[in-house]
Amino acid sequence: MSAKVENVVIVGTGCAGLTAAIYTGRANLQPLVIEGTLPGGQLTTTSEVENFPGFPEGVDGYQLMQNLRKQAEKFGTRYESGQVQGLDTAKWPYTLKLADRDIKAKIIIIATGASPRLTGIPGEKELYGGKGVTTCATCDGAFYRNMEVAVIGGGDSAAEEALFLTRFASKVYLVHRRDTLRASKIMADRATTHAKIQPVWDSVPVAVEGVAQGAVTGLKVKNVKTGAESVLPVKGVFVAIGHQPNTAPFKGAVDTDEQDYFVPVNGSQVKTKTPGVYVAGDCADHHYRQAITAAGMGCQAAIEAERWLAEHESGH
Ligand code: NAP
Repeated sequence: MSAKVENVVIVGTGCAGLTAAIYTGRANLQPLVIEGTLPGGQLTTTSEVENFPGFPEGVDGYQLMQNLRKQAEKFGTRYESGQVQGLDTAKWPYTLKLADRDIKAKIIIIATGASPRLTGIPGEKELYGGKGVTTCATCDGAFYRNMEVAVIGGGDSAAEEALFLTRFASKVYLVHRRDTLRASKIMADRATTHAKIQPVWDSVPVAVEGVAQGAVTGLKVKNVKTGAESVLPVKGVFVAIGHQPNTAPFKGAVDTDEQDYFVPVNGSQVKTKTPGVYVAGDCADHHYRQAITAAGMGCQAAIEAERWLAEHESGH
């Protein structure tokens, strides 16, 4: 008895994965989507998305992902939970290795996204998750009503987190290692002119204090120009210093660069060295990293996949 072979398996349920599902679904390929620990991806941890085309009033990130999911389902997409641990491309159809099972598939689209990075300073790991250190203002901001908090970072994420936190916190320190934000001008202006946000320029975090108490009591920072250290009296530390692409399970099967992002081949954004294996979204893009560009890559991967499969199966 031969094991079932899927036409298309898509790993990941962010904008890239679900757009690939909509397109391969409409191509009648009945895609199977593997969802991991954060169904819906990074947008589900954001609040209002203001720059996704078609929503002049903005759209809630979670709602947008629910809509994409429903849209993909309408065209025959199936969802299964699972933790992918490896991909074997030695023999076609390929074998996706999950913690508890193997799945054989003619096409694999990897859209595993990226996860928030941490700074690695003392106290951060010990106080992460429920004890005051977090990477998600949307998830945890409401716990800090009338308290002082710090956001670490200078990009759009840091500006966005800081602005969101002003809804609850009495004061938000924005700790950045330089004296200008990397964030887009509109976000940077909004953050730096907000009455509740106090930028702490030229400063790096040194330690999260409160390990002995089991809860954050402060954030020690160091001014990189003067060397002076001080402690910000915060109860919450929100780390927003960028992301690590989720590519580790595919090492060997798909090439990665020195920052661990997938490296597409042949001048394409989505093709890999293995025919029938595609990448899409933040796991393969350290340049744009937008919801709409991830969706665009998902679309490209699906169209390439559909064409390759048609040619391959017809023997051309
Ligand atoms: P990012 O743009 O890479 O910014 C990371 C920030 O963290 C930088 O300011 C960086 O400082 C700082 N940083 C990095 N490592 C650090 C360390 N070890 N200690 C202290 N600071 C550190 O990441 P992001 O803000 O997550 O944004 C990622 C992408 O998503 C960007 O393309 C962004 O435009 C996009 N995004 C867009 C929106 C929106 O449009 N509304 C919202 C969120 C994200 P330096 O500046 O000195 O390098």
